[in-house]
Amino acid sequence: MKIKLDRTRCDGFGLCAKHAPDHFPLDDWGYAVLAGGPVIAPADEAAVTRALFDCPVHAITMLPESNRVNGEPTSDTGAPEPRPA
Ligand code: SF4
Repeated sequence: MKIKLDRTRCDGFGLCAKHAPDHFPLDDWGYAVLAGGPVIAPADEAAVTRALFDCPVHAITMLPESNRVNGEPTSDTGAPEPRPA
């Protein structure tokens, strides 16, 4: 399982931190941070999936395992890879 956290959407409700505190620690202002990278170990998938479904603003999304979003390659952060020149 691979996820992305869009911090621009996070409203600091803290539900993700409640379900999966190791993956979603809160910063000093109460907003979630994605810790440990986007790839989630199988043992943590249930808690992270619960966080994903409970986030009221849908700031946490699942990424395809293939490193591609809409056919475009992505980095481990989910950001588009630069195109070759
Ligand atoms: S549940 Fe969503 S809105 Fe709340 S802290 Fe986590 S990412 Fe942010």
